[in-house]
Amino acid sequence: MQHIKNYINGQLVEPVSKTYLDNFNPSTGKVYSYIPDSDEQDVALAYSAAKTAFASWSITPKEQRSKYLLKIAALIEKKLDHLALAESIDNGKPLKLAKTVDIPRAAANFHFYGTGILHYASHAHSMEESAINYTLRQPVGVAGCISPWNLPLYLFSWKIAPALAAGCTVVAKPSEITPMSAYLLSEICIEAGLPAGVLNIVHGLGGKVGNAIVSHKDIPLISFTGGTVTGKHIASVAAPMFKKLSLELGGKNPNIIFADCDYDKMMHTTMLSSFANQGQICLCGSRIFVERKIYDKFKTDFVAKTKALLIGDPLHENTKIGAIVSEGHQQKILSYIELAQKEGGTVLCGGKKVTLDGDLKNGYYIEPTVIEGLAYDCRTNQEEIFGPVVTITPFDTEEEALMMANSTIYGLASMLWTGDLTRAHRMANHIHAGIVWINCWLLRDLRTPFGGVKASGVGREGGFEALDFFTEPKNVCVRL
Ligand code: NAD
Repeated sequence: MQHIKNYINGQLVEPVSKTYLDNFNPSTGKVYSYIPDSDEQDVALAYSAAKTAFASWSITPKEQRSKYLLKIAALIEKKLDHLALAESIDNGKPLKLAKTVDIPRAAANFHFYGTGILHYASHAHSMEESAINYTLRQPVGVAGCISPWNLPLYLFSWKIAPALAAGCTVVAKPSEITPMSAYLLSEICIEAGLPAGVLNIVHGLGGKVGNAIVSHKDIPLISFTGGTVTGKHIASVAAPMFKKLSLELGGKNPNIIFADCDYDKMMHTTMLSSFANQGQICLCGSRIFVERKIYDKFKTDFVAKTKALLIGDPLHENTKIGAIVSEGHQQKILSYIELAQKEGGTVLCGGKKVTLDGDLKNGYYIEPTVIEGLAYDCRTNQEEIFGPVVTITPFDTEEEALMMANSTIYGLASMLWTGDLTRAHRMANHIHAGIVWINCWLLRDLRTPFGGVKASGVGREGGFEALDFFTEPKNVCVRL
């Protein structure tokens, strides 16, 4: 069986401890490869390689850094089928989704920052006749990047690409639950000729590898995407060390639907925003608020469509709902469905674990689930479930919809469906979220800032904001 390796100083290497963890295929529930159980010794080696490489990478002309990033983007595109297959097996997501979203967007991240760095500029401020100030933007140093399992290569590259473009070197840790595409990325970096030590990938557990990165005294910057509880812990370690921090955390996103929307478009997109990737996208809309005038029609149509979603082998072309990423996560989702019923909710469809046939019989599947009749402030409607589970709730007024939408500790994304332009802008202005999608979902222009408010995160990724994050501004004031 395959043993995944760490990527340190340009080489694929075993963990110092020589110990490995099981890597499961969630669609079958079977171990299919092994992942390094690395620890602080591997992080120390990675840091040392990154520190040495920083001396030359940070002064490598941006045109040259750009060429490496574009080469990596081209190789990801060339190997799209292979990467998508690996991601689907590792994560349980439908192969089609990996082919059309995850892997193309990972390539797009490298392409965007490979070209973006060429156009990145800093400012000058004139004090008329007395002085001129100019701002130098210098790479911060060795960046620590930690990512989750839900969109493995996509989110990993979302951090690594701007860090490398900005001139930082990187010690990165992908999720231990989905390590495979990060491993394949290390092979791609070797093929692209990326200089040794510029990117280092250390596999293993959050409590060991992640913690060693976050608490490393000489890593001055942490870019983290994952759960809010983990983010809080990371902040408690990194903030007293005065590290630069970007935290992209959980969500409980509202999807607000008015009677005057384009109903068919709304229904098509709401199916996706509810259940794509088994609902395991931080941007999925898990709380659906529907104007009472169309609530019954919406409920009938939405439940019928949800029942028709094909649950099955992620590798099969027609599968819409693949496997949940791990057995532990499957249990967590099922426990929330139970909680919802205790809280007075009615399961309109789904709600159960699914056992498929043959090789897939031990895989981690759950029926897509729609629940109604819950109070907006109950735990089911306040806590992140991160699975194929949505609640539906009627509302009468804009104010009521806004109050319920804004009632959670989270503020990542939101969706609004209406044909009333003025209302759309008015509501967008009042929603507490980093992203408001009006009559669409998951449409991303990489130039725009990305991230959440409240417990959904601190800082912004995306666009030139990410290049700002990985560089330090230095003001130089010259007396004329
Ligand atoms: P998680 O917080 O459990 O793990 C994320 C990463 O942090 C993993 O690599 C993990 O190994 C590591 N980690 C765990 N403990 C650590 C520690 N003590 N120190 C350092 N690193 C540690 O999250 P997850 O379950 O992998 O991902 C799901 C969560 O991510 C959800 O809450 C989801 O909303 C969130 N998410 C947010 C965004 C966003 O952009 N805001 C995007 C995707 C996912």
